[in-house]
Formats: sequence, structure tokens, C-alpha cells
Amino acid sequence: MRIIYILFICIVFCCQISSAFSSQASHNFKIVTSFSLLQNWVTVLTQNIPADIAVISTQSLVPLQNDPHVHQITPMDAKAMEKADLIITIGLSFECWMNNSAATHSPHTTLFQAAAGVDARLIPAPDPHIWHDVQKVRQMVTNIAKVLCEKLPKAAQIINNNARVYDAELVKLDAWVRDEIAKTPLEQRKIITTHDAFYYYGKAYGVTFHAPVGLSTEAEADSKTVALLINQIKNENIKAIFFENLANRNIIRQIANETGIRIQEGDLLYADSLSEESGVAYDYIAMMKHNTTLIVRALMRG
Ligand SMILES: [Zn+2]
Repeated sequence: MRIIYILFICIVFCCQISSAFSSQASHNFKIVTSFSLLQNWVTVLTQNIPADIAVISTQSLVPLQNDPHVHQITPMDAKAMEKADLIITIGLSFECWMNNSAATHSPHTTLFQAAAGVDARLIPAPDPHIWHDVQKVRQMVTNIAKVLCEKLPKAAQIINNNARVYDAELVKLDAWVRDEIAKTPLEQRKIITTHDAFYYYGKAYGVTFHAPVGLSTEAEADSKTVALLINQIKNENIKAIFFENLANRNIIRQIANETGIRIQEGDLLYADSLSEESGVAYDYIAMMKHNTTLIVRALMRG
């Protein structure tokens, strides 16, 4: 009797394991994003999806605090891309390293560009840094929610609800940034950063950004551009200058030295990546609040 009982328990246990396995295997949904901000939005949109609908995993190819302009595909990245159900990029020539790589994805993988249909600056290359304008992020998050609903129809209601809640937070964030910048003197709203990442922020919120380096951190600042910028800083009495979290600090230090602008060593603007979870820019909203707080403080100091 005892042996029969043990056998019964074993059979029940094995059945449970195999059913857990098969249900998980059939609902696993792997999302690969190019960099941390996209992963943040995907995580927000897919939260609370129960495992019996889909077990979602997300992965960013470019790790936190790494430069997405100059990433190189690793063997682990290639493996993740190969297994992905959905790969989400910004587009706008941001992830050139992905196109130049030999890594492939399966024919079943959906490739999706979050910036599709979002108005971008062309100079003549497209400026990819659209995430610094909250209104453009609202469009991107809507785009991402749409493709997620298409791929995960049973979770569409949950995804749309997440999108609605997050969109309300973005609307609040956009108004908050506007209100904060409005506190600063109009004639002081000029800022020097390392690379040309904040055009959209400037256009949306009424601040002019100047940078010695172009759209990609990969570019080098040429001495003529730096000399012109130094003149402009002196002529226009620009007082706010920032390091960025990922870019080389030498050129900003040189400009600060030659113009006499005081630089706050610990104040870093987050241009192209979130911080670690314990850092100040642990998600998109925290990043925008952190950048805006530093910008306002610098402009008020001016
Ligand atoms: Zn950048």
C-alpha cells in the first residue's frame, strides 16, 4: 500500500513538472531591446502579465552605463537576438552597430523600430535622441504598446492598461519639466554639454544647448568648433556647463578652463543611458527629473 502511495505521489509530481514545463515553453516571450530606455518602457508595458498568458523576458543589448552609439555585438548578444521573439530598436540610424554585425535573428523574430512615425531632426543624418522630449516618448510608448498587443493578443488589455497609466505619468512629467524650466531667467537658458544629445529637450522646453561633439559620442571635437564655442560662451555670457554620464570629460574640462565657467564635477547629465538601479537615473522618469533638476539649478546659479 505504501509503495502504491509513493508511486502515486511520484506520478503526480512528474505530471506537474512536465505541465509546468510545457506551459512555460509554449508561452515564453523573449524581447530584446537595443538599449536601457527601451527596456524600461517594455518592462513598464508588460508588467502584471500573468504567467499563464506569457512569461516575458526582456534584455538590453547595450548594458547600463554603456554607450549605445559605439556598442559591439557580443556572442551573448548574438545568441539573444537569435532567440528573440521581438527585437525593439529606436531606428533613426541609432543602432548602426546592429546592422553592421553578422549576428542574425530567426525568421520568426519581429523587428520593430520604436521611432516609426515620430518627427525627427535631419542634419542631414537623423538625430536619434528623441527620448529627451517627453511628447515624443509618449508616441514611442504608444508604438511599442501596439506591437506588443499584436504579438501578445491575450495580454492586450493588460498592456493597454499599463500604457494608459504610464501615459498619464508622462503627461505629468512633461508639464513638470515645462514648469521647472519656466522658473529660470529666459536670457540664461543656454547650456554646454559634450555631445549634441539635447536638441529635442531644448526645442521642447525652451533651452538652447551647444556641444563641441556631434550627434554621436564617437566623433571627435575639432579645434575650430571648440574655438568658436569658447568665443560664443564669452560673447553670450553662458554660465551652465555639464559633463555627461558616458562621454569623455576632457573637452568639457578644457572649455570650462578657457572660459572660466565653474563646473560642478559631480553633476552629470544622463544623455543616452539609464544609471544602475541604485543610481539617480534608474528609470526614464527619474532620468528626466534628474537632468531637469540639474539644468534648472545651473541656470538659476547663472
Ligand atoms: Zn548620444
